[in-house]
Amino acid sequence: MDLADFHVAELAGVGPATVDKLARLGIETWQDVLFHLPFRYEDRTRITPISQLQPGVAAQVLVQVEHSGIRFGKRRTLICRASDASGAIDLRFFYFSKAQQNRLQKGTWLLCFGEVALVAGIASIVHPETQIVNDPSRPPLSDRLSPVYPVTEGVKQPLLRKLTEQVLARLQSDTLPELLPAAIRKDYQLEPLASALQFVHRPPAGIGLTTLLDPEHPARQRLALEELLAFQLAMQRLRRQFVREDAPRIAPAQQLPAQLAAQLPFQLTAAQQRVIADIARDLDAPHPMLRLVQGDVGSGKTLVAAMAALQVIEQGYQVALMAPTEILAEQHWNNFSDWFSELGLECAFLVSKLKAAERREMLHAIESGAAAMVIGTHALFQESVNFAKLALIIVDEQHRFGVHQRLALKEKGGQEGRVPHQLIMTATPIPRTLTMTAYADLATSIIDELPPGRKPIQTLVLPDSRREQVIARVEHACRRDNGQAYWVCTLIDESEELQAQAAQATAEQLTLAMPNLSVALVHGRMKPADKQAVMELFSRGKIDVLVATTVIEVGVDVPNANLMVIENSERLGLAQLHQLRGRVGRGGRDSHCVLLYQSPLSKTGQQRLEIMRATTDGFKIAEKDLEIRGPGEVLGTRQTGLMQFKVADIMRDSVLLPKVQQVATALLEQQPQNAEQLIERWLSGREEYAQV
Ligand code: ADP
Ligand code: MG
Repeated sequence: MDLADFHVAELAGVGPATVDKLARLGIETWQDVLFHLPFRYEDRTRITPISQLQPGVAAQVLVQVEHSGIRFGKRRTLICRASDASGAIDLRFFYFSKAQQNRLQKGTWLLCFGEVALVAGIASIVHPETQIVNDPSRPPLSDRLSPVYPVTEGVKQPLLRKLTEQVLARLQSDTLPELLPAAIRKDYQLEPLASALQFVHRPPAGIGLTTLLDPEHPARQRLALEELLAFQLAMQRLRRQFVREDAPRIAPAQQLPAQLAAQLPFQLTAAQQRVIADIARDLDAPHPMLRLVQGDVGSGKTLVAAMAALQVIEQGYQVALMAPTEILAEQHWNNFSDWFSELGLECAFLVSKLKAAERREMLHAIESGAAAMVIGTHALFQESVNFAKLALIIVDEQHRFGVHQRLALKEKGGQEGRVPHQLIMTATPIPRTLTMTAYADLATSIIDELPPGRKPIQTLVLPDSRREQVIARVEHACRRDNGQAYWVCTLIDESEELQAQAAQATAEQLTLAMPNLSVALVHGRMKPADKQAVMELFSRGKIDVLVATTVIEVGVDVPNANLMVIENSERLGLAQLHQLRGRVGRGGRDSHCVLLYQSPLSKTGQQRLEIMRATTDGFKIAEKDLEIRGPGEVLGTRQTGLMQFKVADIMRDSVLLPKVQQVATALLEQQPQNAEQLIERWLSGREEYAQV
């Protein structure tokens, strides 16, 4: 007997309607019931005296009813005042039946469980679970912690407890096969799967929360390792399926990349050359490339992308570059147009804000194949866009692009059953733990070297109350030292309109404060031509202080600028701050960055800005950011779903990842059947991991 072969309909208490509801939780087989794991536990083993209750913490109390009655306020509420020897508590019910009300007679003893809140200074529990106690000297306490399962509409805790009860009764080593290779079980001295599951579903009596949540506990370790492995297998399987498709084979370049290199005022770094070679090798194969290029801010990723594009264009194909925002797209378009026009190549630009006529013109250039290089936003992949001969898609992703978006791209622009190659570039480094999990479907290249001559940036963290001094510093840097400064205005509000207004106000203020300097303004609401004009003046040194919104986060490159002030820096993510700060320190001289913040700064806020002060290494910053904010936040909303593990925690369990990666590869090759079963066991019902 194998628990995976039995359907939930064959369990007591499960009718057709429940089957459908369980399916929503990914529960179809008896095995699924077991892998729907508790995400926390409740302690009903003890009674807490009312005087020791803490707001926000769930607890169990043993109380005697003093009186109860209905209050008719904004909301009809049944309030039951009850007490123990140490104090009084209000039990509040918004939904209740006459029978429930009648149970709460004066003098009745109740065992109640629920989260405590303070309402008008009195401890209260809203909708406690209550149980009448006949003999208060012997309350029916539970002898073990109670599991709490993820629920959905129509599937509540009691049902899940009943189901797990039935399946656990049939759980033996021969009803749930061990799928992990014996070697890894031995290496890590892993606990048998059956007992690990038994332990987390029904913790033994006397086991406390500390033991249950202990990351080192053998049961948790066992499950975490298996879950990480299942996830890794799913990602690697997606990759294997993807790279089995046909793609146009792109021979190594003969001319165009060399011509671009000759036109540059500098040499490519060794790291850039290495990564360009990685890509060239991938392209020269009849299957699609799926590669991630990482590199710190300023490491020269754009140029690497351009070199890859030229190899493809030389063979007569088209290349599309997709940026996450219009501003970034525009920046890339400027760069590529500069570089490629000298090679006689046409670039097209496609974003949603184009005027109808412009759009038609661009679409035509894309369809006819006249445009070899096409740059834009997501607008590039709307249905109305038809590429003549697309062979490479470059995604400049900024952590906003998930595995499914990546895979969906293969539908776009493929010809004669052949799919385009994919190159993913990240704006800032991604912590290794995340590349090993969320990006496990990609091959990775790292540009681990900055162009020569970059100087480390000194960073200061100051409260906004020191603004006057900061202004004096800007003045000094620009007048005495002949430097230039960025003054970056950020707002919590994402709206460009408000950002622009704030920047405008700051520019006026700074103009007044520094009458001898030339202050100018650039923001996302300006016309591209006006923006361009200001940037050009700043580039040529005609402007001393450039007040900007986070527009300049992207690609602005003015080596003479050596000071940056960032307002409200506590509101930005570390990756964004790092990206912004990377705009200075490009010339040969000492550079500074001042991070202004509004007091008071939260504890996390302090930690974050301290990291920015302490290091300019993007990889270190990314690791710390992950530690503080967690994977969901770092990856952005679209990816969050990916990282919802049941047991594993990629921070805590990161030491396991290299091994997990190895074992996954070996398993897919040697025991593909086990690999399939592991994926099914842990990721059942998660569409995103299904076959592509
Ligand atoms: P990022 O990796 O942050 O996207 P960019 O591609 O925007 O970096 O490059 C940053 C700047 O460095 C650009 O001005 C680019 O022209 C310049 N650059 C790129 N490669 C080199 C190099 N090998 N030597 C000197 N400067 C370089
Ligand atoms: Mg870049």
